[in-house]
Amino acid sequence: MTEPPIETVAFVSLGCPKNLVDSEAMLADLASAGYRLVSDHDEADAVVVNTCGFLEASKEESLEVIREAIVRKESGDLRRVVVAGCLVQRHRAKMLEWAPGIDAMVGVFDRDRIRAAVSGTEPSDSPGETPWWISANAMVAAKSRGRDTVNLTVQGADGRGLGYFEDDGERMRLTPRHWAYLRVSEGCNQNCAFCTIPSIRGKMRSKPLDKIISEAESLMASGAFELNLIGQDTTSYGMDIGEDGGLVAMLTALDGVAAGNGGGWIRLMYAYPSNFTDEMIDAMASLPNIVKYIDMPLQHASDKMLTAMRRNVSATHQNDLVQRLRDRIPGLALRTTLITGFPGETDEDHAAMLQFIEDVQFDALGVFKYSPEAGTVAGTMDTDPALHVPDEVKIEREREIMLLQQEIAFENASYVAEQGSVFDVLLDGPHETNNGYMCGRCYHQAPEVDSRTIVEVSASTPPGSLVRCKIIGSDSYDLLARPEADLERRVSLPISS
Ligand code: SF4
Repeated sequence: MTEPPIETVAFVSLGCPKNLVDSEAMLADLASAGYRLVSDHDEADAVVVNTCGFLEASKEESLEVIREAIVRKESGDLRRVVVAGCLVQRHRAKMLEWAPGIDAMVGVFDRDRIRAAVSGTEPSDSPGETPWWISANAMVAAKSRGRDTVNLTVQGADGRGLGYFEDDGERMRLTPRHWAYLRVSEGCNQNCAFCTIPSIRGKMRSKPLDKIISEAESLMASGAFELNLIGQDTTSYGMDIGEDGGLVAMLTALDGVAAGNGGGWIRLMYAYPSNFTDEMIDAMASLPNIVKYIDMPLQHASDKMLTAMRRNVSATHQNDLVQRLRDRIPGLALRTTLITGFPGETDEDHAAMLQFIEDVQFDALGVFKYSPEAGTVAGTMDTDPALHVPDEVKIEREREIMLLQQEIAFENASYVAEQGSVFDVLLDGPHETNNGYMCGRCYHQAPEVDSRTIVEVSASTPPGSLVRCKIIGSDSYDLLARPEADLERRVSLPISS
């Protein structure tokens, strides 16, 4: 007896903002195929898990979610378990050993096969029982979709790269209406010794500028005031596809899009230090809708570690770049990410990192304990007992870094309050415990990763409103604010209460 077709689908999106955009695109594809998307998994015929495979920890998290879904399927509460994303791309058939019961798999270059994976009625590329669509790399995926790749090179030497050919235009947004992620590239040409991303997402592929502009237009037309630019290495934007002007041209174009929509916040995330030019700094300083904010993972501050990490940048270069950024972009907010416990890291290296944090006074900082990953250069280094940093040392160094950064952040927050600074605050939503307050963010606070600003305004105020506020206090990392001027409703579309 044939099974009735799958009608309802639940979706779990794990990992980074790039994976979230993939999830949004797959959701839009499933909806346009007529599937009813449900948030209550009990109503779902099928569940899609879009996995993260960056670190061992994210692998375990993804497998846990998949196994839970398989248990539900085995108990008859679900009919189909579909897995997608980076863990699938990185480990392929191994997924079926780790989680027997998976019904279909889709790789990162094949998300447009999600309908087939959910329906279970179409032939697939896989030799075995479990259908899967997992292209070896972007070039293979492009060829199988009839794209002319003859004169193109995987790496994009001489600007002849394949580029980002997937379509992020149709998305069912998982972020609030008033802000969105805008992917400008995928993959990476850097070769950091600890990183698995190039082996998963492949070489750098910039999205053609005209596509970025049209996506920005439609996101802003749909109510997004803030666009967060994402990729793996946004500094190198356009180099692989010969996009003249690269990052500067892109920022200039997006500033124009925001101006054409009554203003906006264009925020640069995932910048890379080695090739951040003066032209890029000047563009960030002069373009009004480009937020004076940069997220630039630097990973370490000792030359020995930067060399061992294969970061292609020196400590002097990083210090100089930070100084130039601070000197030439007044009010610049700087976020970074660091790794502690990399193989071979000594107390001296760690001390250099602490001194760097003290000197730079980052506005926001995240730190990861080094995680050995199979298939990476550093993963091999870590097997050497002379280089391996014991977990307890990693934990202690991480604690010292976070304590130092906490001190800096708390001081910064109370200093801003003492000054009675005035900022525009983009309201995100009601405060979780007090309905006399809304939570929002000033320009120096990125969504989901940074601190927030708590505003004395009714919790029924529409999210996406931009309110000019005076900072009247601070509470650890967060700022407390009081409206200065009347609300300026930002969201052009009617607000659903
Ligand atoms: S820049 Fe380095 S850490 Fe970032 S994605 Fe590329 S290789 Fe990985």
